Amino acid sequence: MSFGHTVGHQKQLVILRAALASERLHHAYLFVGPEGVGKHTIAVALAKAIHCQAKADDFCGQCVNCARIADGNHPDVRTVEPLPDKKEISIQQIREIERELNYRSFTGKRKIVIIDPAILLNAAAQNALLKTLEEPPQESLIILIAPNAGGLLPTLRSRCLRLSFTPVSRPEVAGYLQNLHKKSAEEAAFLAAMSMGSIGVALALDKDALTEKRQIWVGRLGALKAGDFQSAMTTAEAVAGNREEALRFIKWAESWYRDLLIYRMTSQPDELVNLDMQAEVEQQAAQMSADGIRAAIANAIGAGAGIQRNLNRRMVLEKFLFDVVSDRR
Ligand SMILES: [Zn+2]
Repeated sequence: MSFGHTVGHQKQLVILRAALASERLHHAYLFVGPEGVGKHTIAVALAKAIHCQAKADDFCGQCVNCARIADGNHPDVRTVEPLPDKKEISIQQIREIERELNYRSFTGKRKIVIIDPAILLNAAAQNALLKTLEEPPQESLIILIAPNAGGLLPTLRSRCLRLSFTPVSRPEVAGYLQNLHKKSAEEAAFLAAMSMGSIGVALALDKDALTEKRQIWVGRLGALKAGDFQSAMTTAEAVAGNREEALRFIKWAESWYRDLLIYRMTSQPDELVNLDMQAEVEQQAAQMSADGIRAAIANAIGAGAGIQRNLNRRMVLEKFLFDVVSDRR
């Protein structure tokens, strides 16, 4: 392994690697971007590159230091998250890491703290961290990871160098799955479309389980009749239960309505994500106007963002499905 194996985020890597090679890393970084796109992976890769015994300014993934960092038990690299059963990162946790940052490093390299997700730092913890960042311990590196910078004190943000991460593009995810995981082109394209720009999600998706789910979802959307708000509510309730599941559904729904639009505009099945469900695509495409399908795509994107921001899932999904049944003919 090395930085060269990282998929996407090339601009961010150039910045970090240049800073690393010229020994100009900042004391604090803020990595912002949607969940699951690789922010934590890049933070850990940077930690490995700092401590790797085999490579300079890069990492091997195999030496003692790389292995211990990967396992989360390197004495100089610490990840801070809420303690079990707690919803916040507390001031005690920040005081503890501040104490540790002042100890001498075991390897003689930087001591690193990764705070993920940083938006769970409560107000007292943020103020304590701010004091640490105002006078950072020598040879320390603090990386804050968050879906966005909102919820963090402006004074805290201004002490960090911010790097923004965006989802990895679909072709990049698909190429990775084909080249490194020997997936067929068809399976790679399908998993990439369902991955939400996250390599981790793409690898965790089980195509067979997903196919089963999709059949249920297609059936549910297909059963929605014009003006049938009751069925829309029942469907929203059925898919809203679990956050991951709800996100998966809405992401899939986005791909589904894209397929309907492609089919309507071109009648070309090869571009479809849901290639195996052409008959259903054809049938449902005929039930909606092109503008209605476009609106459904836009609404699915909005609903997905709402669920990621932890808005009430059932309400978000109801609104999405109400718009769908309103357009049905
Ligand atoms: Zn190494």
